Amino acid sequence: MNQATSRIADQPPLNNTVIAKFGGTSVADFDAMNRSADVVLSNPDVRVVVLSASAGVTNLLVELAEGRETERRDFLLSEIRRIQTAIIDRLEQPDVIREEIERMLENISTLSEAASLATSTALTDELVSHGEIISTLLFVEILRQRHVSAEWFDVRKIMRTNDRFGRAEPDTQILLELAEQQLLPRLQEALIITQGFIGAEPKGRTTTLGRGGSDYTAALLGEALHASRVDIWTDVPGIYTTDPRLVPGAKRIDRIAFEEAAEMATFGAKVLHPATLLPAVRRGIPVFVGSSKDPSAGGTLVCDTTENPPLFRALALRRKQTLLTLHSLSMLHSQGFLAELFNILARHNISVDLITTSEVSVALTLDTTGSTSSGDSLLTTSLLTELSSLCRVEVEENLALIAIIGNKLSQACGVGKEVFGVLDPFNIRMICYGASSYNLCFLVPGDDANQVVQKLHHNLFEQD
Ligand code: ADP
Ligand code: ASP
Ligand code: MG
Repeated sequence: MNQATSRIADQPPLNNTVIAKFGGTSVADFDAMNRSADVVLSNPDVRVVVLSASAGVTNLLVELAEGRETERRDFLLSEIRRIQTAIIDRLEQPDVIREEIERMLENISTLSEAASLATSTALTDELVSHGEIISTLLFVEILRQRHVSAEWFDVRKIMRTNDRFGRAEPDTQILLELAEQQLLPRLQEALIITQGFIGAEPKGRTTTLGRGGSDYTAALLGEALHASRVDIWTDVPGIYTTDPRLVPGAKRIDRIAFEEAAEMATFGAKVLHPATLLPAVRRGIPVFVGSSKDPSAGGTLVCDTTENPPLFRALALRRKQTLLTLHSLSMLHSQGFLAELFNILARHNISVDLITTSEVSVALTLDTTGSTSSGDSLLTTSLLTELSSLCRVEVEENLALIAIIGNKLSQACGVGKEVFGVLDPFNIRMICYGASSYNLCFLVPGDDANQVVQKLHHNLFEQD
């Protein structure tokens, strides 16, 4: 009996379904793909595998979608070809897949020529989706050559979204119905390999869920398939007290509550896409985060509750924040100014992130979570023109938002001293505290961000 047949025979009942998602570095090259395949095969409960594009490919595709002149375009295309053919060349039977990948590379070339004539958000999504299409085709082939019965599944058949290209929102009800009809019956037949990040709007055009959106796809599929767990395999063995690349003394958090992890993701902990935990919370599905490079190192379990939640849990950092300060003397003792302001922002599809007010001015940051696939700025000329007709507008860029994530922060004494006591050399540009008991946020100049995080982490997490 080969591995393909044994895997099906060994399959446990469907209520134990685990969705396993592998990010870009986990499918970066042939060796990484094989390590990820080992992780999948070590757990017979894994029935659906969600993949990102190979590391670097989405960035290259995004640049192509911006429309480049011939020389740059040829370079970007050759980089994508180099990354993907290096995987094909190491397959035992490369010819099975070579033609199909060549077709995809041709598509990319044609679409990027179109983009250099006229860019559009729909075209961008169509172009960038090729990264996930190619990585999944290659991964299926790697599994097949290891005698595993694996099936490539086009997630766009079920991941119905609205047509907000670059940052599309899924319709979870339609997803549920389509997943039950089209995906659930297949889970008994083979291991399903599908794409993260991409979807399709009602007319069938390809959409994307925003950069880093594959985590969100995995959680949405987990919800639709009533999975027992969603595993996010990445390049760090879990969620840490802050980004371990920035602070080597960061410590792994073994168990963390949904709310705390969601706050971390929202405030910039890149390890999870900000929307990932929404479907998980709706269904109470635990999410595991581990490293595909070192699965035996364990990881973090994000779940309903944790014992003795600490006052300070983690630090998150979001760079490139824009602060708008709006001054209007007519705000003094008047009614309706804020309503008018929020109306303008809503008309421009902007959600406000942080806000503080004084008698005659309002300062706010724009919500950049789940940034668009095209990387467009939210601050458009038409928005600024409209705001300027209401009040005087000041724009400050290159600020960094630092969030302290914790529990019952707004009820505790001494938080201010502990946090700001060590930060006297720095300019704290804005502080938000009190609305949520899970966070305390403030803005600092972008160039100071690393130092502030390191200092604060040392003070809050590295002392016994
Ligand atoms: P993937 O491509 O697998 O989705 P990402 O690059 O999106 O991986 O996310 C993993 C990265 O998130 C890590 O390499 C790490 O630098 C960063 N990161 C930021 N904050 C945290 C944190 N609190 N814990 C762990 N990793 C973090
Ligand atoms: N490939 C997409 C990106 O780089 C989605 C993801 O990796 O989650 O943003
Ligand atoms: Mg990611």
